[in-house]
Amino acid sequence: MCATKTQDVEATSGQIQRLIDHGADIIRIAVDSKKDVEALAVIREKVPHARLVVDLQESYRLAERVAPFVDKIRYNPGHLHHHERSVPVREKVACIVEAARQNDCALRIGVNFGSLDPALGGPDPIEAALTSAAEHIGYLEDSNFINYVVSLKSSDPQDVVTINTAFASRFPGVPLHLGVTEAGLLPMGEIKTRVAFEHLLARGIGDTVRVSLTLPNDRKHEEIIVGRTIINDVYAGRFRSVPNFGQEGLNIISCPSCSRVENSAFVELAEKVRVVAQIAEKENITIAVMGCRVNGPGETDDADLGLWCAPSHVNFKRKGELIGSFPYDEILPRFEIELRALMAEKGSI
Ligand code: SF4
Repeated sequence: MCATKTQDVEATSGQIQRLIDHGADIIRIAVDSKKDVEALAVIREKVPHARLVVDLQESYRLAERVAPFVDKIRYNPGHLHHHERSVPVREKVACIVEAARQNDCALRIGVNFGSLDPALGGPDPIEAALTSAAEHIGYLEDSNFINYVVSLKSSDPQDVVTINTAFASRFPGVPLHLGVTEAGLLPMGEIKTRVAFEHLLARGIGDTVRVSLTLPNDRKHEEIIVGRTIINDVYAGRFRSVPNFGQEGLNIISCPSCSRVENSAFVELAEKVRVVAQIAEKENITIAVMGCRVNGPGETDDADLGLWCAPSHVNFKRKGELIGSFPYDEILPRFEIELRALMAEKGSI
């Protein structure tokens, strides 16, 4: 996935080529505005050989503008509810399908545990995610559109295994794109991804994969290296013993960063949070660090401590409740205070 600003055409084309050089078959870029679409058209000319995917987030109407320049469009069923609430989701999907059909473009129904369709709320996110995927498969097939894949992602590798296994048995003919979202920093990000991919690929589940690591821009190609290494290991029968992620011990999730990152200090902040959090190494505590407002508010809701980055400040939540917004140079001491308070509540200090 590209993390450069899409409108920085030189940087984005350069990053696309670097990802291809390291073995990427499909590259995703973010498009949120008409200016991004204009940049996309130029990028398409600069790297005509690249297979490009665009992630639509909430702007479903951009589909008809981006479809001529890409090979696949990803939309998130959970995000189709926020914009133009009076327009039924089925109609929004019909718009996206029509744009894809007219441009011979594939679609990905990208269900994400952090941003599920609010209408499907309930105690069981796995069932809600499966229901959401089934609903959207229905929309596409009712429109006689079959050029699509599905993804069901979570930051918890065990959930990724559970839901993709369930999906594959319910919809054996539908191609699956695998990924662990916000797997975070190395080395844990690789380990979490490996946990999920080893279980799924070994059972023949999964058609494309994406590795999502928190890395600075000039190291984004390491996502490809990690993904290729895991695939090659599974293919060769090399499995590694992996830690149990049943919420034992400290769990830090952080987003991989993309062009939507609102302040480039995000990656450094994620690193520093990890260092400070070592005081809670043995605690069953989940910490989420996210790069922007698109996925930040939702993905931090389930964490014990959640930080999501805005342009000039960091929003800080404890168990889903906003504590406040802090400048980048003040957030770490505040984070440590809250972490210690959490540990004191657990009787650890
Ligand atoms: Fe990109 Fe925002 Fe998701 Fe991070 S949280 S990967 S910055 S969209």
